[in-house]
Amino acid sequence: MAAKLLLLFAICRLIVIVGLTLNPTDFFRVGIIGRLSVDPHDITAASMDFGKTTRTEPTAVLHPATADDVAKLIKLAYQSPQGFAVSARGHGHSINGQSQVSNGVVVQMSSSGGTAAAPEVSENSMYVDVWGGELWIDVLKSTLQYGLAPKSWTDYLYLSVGGTLSNGGISGQAFNHGPQISNVHEMDVVTGKGQVLTCSKNKNPELFHSVLGGLGQFGIITRARIALEPSPQRVRWIRVLYSNFTAFTHDQEYLISLHNHPQSEKFDYIEGFVIVDEGLINNWRSSFFSPKNPVKISSLGASGKVLYCLEITKNYYDLSNPESIDQEVGDLLKKLNYIPASEFTTDLPYVDFLDRVHKAELKLRSKGLWEVPHPWLNLFVPKSRIADFDEGVFKGILGNKTSGPILIYPMNKNKWDEKSSVVTPDEDVFYLVALLRSALDNGEETLTLKHLSDENRKILEFCKEENIKVKQYLPHYTTEKEWMEHYGEKWHQIYRKKMEFDPRHILATGQRIFEPRF
Ligand code: FAD
Repeated sequence: MAAKLLLLFAICRLIVIVGLTLNPTDFFRVGIIGRLSVDPHDITAASMDFGKTTRTEPTAVLHPATADDVAKLIKLAYQSPQGFAVSARGHGHSINGQSQVSNGVVVQMSSSGGTAAAPEVSENSMYVDVWGGELWIDVLKSTLQYGLAPKSWTDYLYLSVGGTLSNGGISGQAFNHGPQISNVHEMDVVTGKGQVLTCSKNKNPELFHSVLGGLGQFGIITRARIALEPSPQRVRWIRVLYSNFTAFTHDQEYLISLHNHPQSEKFDYIEGFVIVDEGLINNWRSSFFSPKNPVKISSLGASGKVLYCLEITKNYYDLSNPESIDQEVGDLLKKLNYIPASEFTTDLPYVDFLDRVHKAELKLRSKGLWEVPHPWLNLFVPKSRIADFDEGVFKGILGNKTSGPILIYPMNKNKWDEKSSVVTPDEDVFYLVALLRSALDNGEETLTLKHLSDENRKILEFCKEENIKVKQYLPHYTTEKEWMEHYGEKWHQIYRKKMEFDPRHILATGQRIFEPRF
């Protein structure tokens, strides 16, 4: 009874705030079987994201039980004279309020309380069908029961399938398998008109391509069919250092150029990071040593300089011959020009490697350093200008305090489907540069949110002034002009598809691309 009263209160509140000209009983009549909530706990959770810099309260939160629930809610928003906004929220790991909504309903896709369908693996066809709000860690757990695993990952697995597919989904496997959006066979999508459509390259292809990397603009993904491969059991994980940026990028580009070679002749994962932080160089780096060949980084003579770390892995199976793995890794390493004494090698189960960032999360949480503002900036930088970016940003704007990891790794553009909604630089190879920084309020001026946000602005201005044609990954803009610039030639296509699939601009208003039409 109390639950019914709460629901009635939720509906009345929605009607009052959104101004719907609906009778409360209409909500019962549309027959949503999930939970529509105005519980302050739900509202507060849906008002925030990982970035912790933007806060917007929704009117209500829907915990859907099925795709049909999502469709019924959207249909109501689409058909009611006043309309209201609807945003899917995966795990809320956006930075700038992208899954938030004002005057509307957040559809909480993850943590649906076990009501959504469990992953279904097809062993023969090597794919898994998953609910759009499923977290990648849970996708992995279910496919491993069949000795299978997805091919393309993000560095962190506590993100939802729908959330990463709406952006791209990248990690060190992208040079080889492409981003996660290149590894999806089929999806069920609820459009902005409330229709539930199955789409793939052959069926409703326009919707399929629009939704992949579509920032939630064209529909809510309720099911995705993800490609699988036999799961490796173990990983050889290697880090090597460079003080010379040209040598570093030359080696990274060489390694990703091997993508068409047989498995034994290439690495499975290629990333890298930049170490500009004096604190890191003097403290953390001193413990960065190889068990085989202990070396203090302070002995590398890189004091005051920027260092670059190449991070690579080789997957293998229990049945593999360890000597042949040593041989394959050794043959590849021989071709690289890193600082010889800087090799660090470890060996661990595949799952532990994939879930590595979660370990870091637990450590940061225990120190109260996870729930802090994250003014992250992610850029795709064309290969031809990465050296200019290094000079201007890593060796220039950043100074010697970074307040978080800075990732840098190249990808092959031919592994990205041009028809998807993502935009990447117009070159065969481009780099991800991810400035994953945390703002702290500990009295150090260089670590404050204002300082880091100012630096981000300076980096973007620098790229503009130097005509370095970067594209933001996980983009954040606030004006239509900026979005038009971001999409460039793709803008007309994005606009046309928006008109087709979400003509009232109901969906994902937190991205601030299209003004709602109600
Ligand atoms: P949310 O933040 O909840 O939503 C993001 C956007 O997608 C919103 O606009 C939302 O409306 C929309 N959306 C969500 N679910 C759906 C759905 N089912 N259908 C349609 N639209 C939907 N990204 C990488 O590519 N590689 C990485 O290695 C990586 N590492 C990360 C590590 C951390 C610690 C964090 C916080 C983020 C990382 N990201 C990475 C970024 C991450 O992929 C994006 O922020 C992604 O959007 C997060 O997924 P989410 O489920 O939290 O989405």
